Amino acid sequence: MKAHTHQASYKPQHFSRTLFTGVLFALALALLVPLCGCKKNESKQSQPEITLQNLQTAYVREMRIGREYALFSQRAERDRYGSIANLFRAASRSEQIHAEMAAALLRGKSTEVKPFVPDSITVGTVMQTLRLAVSDEGLETESMYPNLARTAELEKFPEAAESFRRTLDADKRHIELFKDALDKGGSIARIQYYVCPTCGYIITSDKIDECPGCHTNKEKFEKI
Ligand SMILES: [Zn+2]
Repeated sequence: MKAHTHQASYKPQHFSRTLFTGVLFALALALLVPLCGCKKNESKQSQPEITLQNLQTAYVREMRIGREYALFSQRAERDRYGSIANLFRAASRSEQIHAEMAAALLRGKSTEVKPFVPDSITVGTVMQTLRLAVSDEGLETESMYPNLARTAELEKFPEAAESFRRTLDADKRHIELFKDALDKGGSIARIQYYVCPTCGYIITSDKIDECPGCHTNKEKFEKI
């Protein structure tokens, strides 16, 4: 009985100490949990924020270059460089597809795509437009898209990383085609271009069965 009494008198003390520690722990948790919860709610369950901004930047840039190439194409046509006009038309379509790839990923993350606002574009001679195109695409392939792909990987957004890499490969192809046209002083043969509707890769041979970038079947290629 005595032991029981002793135990009874000890127990509440022990209990209150446990309770006190428990309350402190609960308080600490109560402070921490809403903080984490808040952060999570704000970022819609850890959204890849930087990559979402990068997709928006890529969307606007690709839309702009798509429009630029369409204007370059008109200039080439006017200056009787029909084959260069066609090359710029194919490249313009390719850039539109890249813009759409970025927009689709944004929409997939329930993120609003801010509209592209056309600005004024200076259109030089055909040789100037080709040189500008090589320089712009060089910037994209050497630093912009490799960086965006790496960031998307770090933010665990593999679809965006893949999309940036596909855009990078398609842009490298643009450089090859533009450089070839420059080397030939604008006198390139008038050929049929096939643009992959999935990744924007430009194919110049009808003997290729699928896109080298994303394996889309040739049946789906757009003829330019
Ligand atoms: Zn493709």
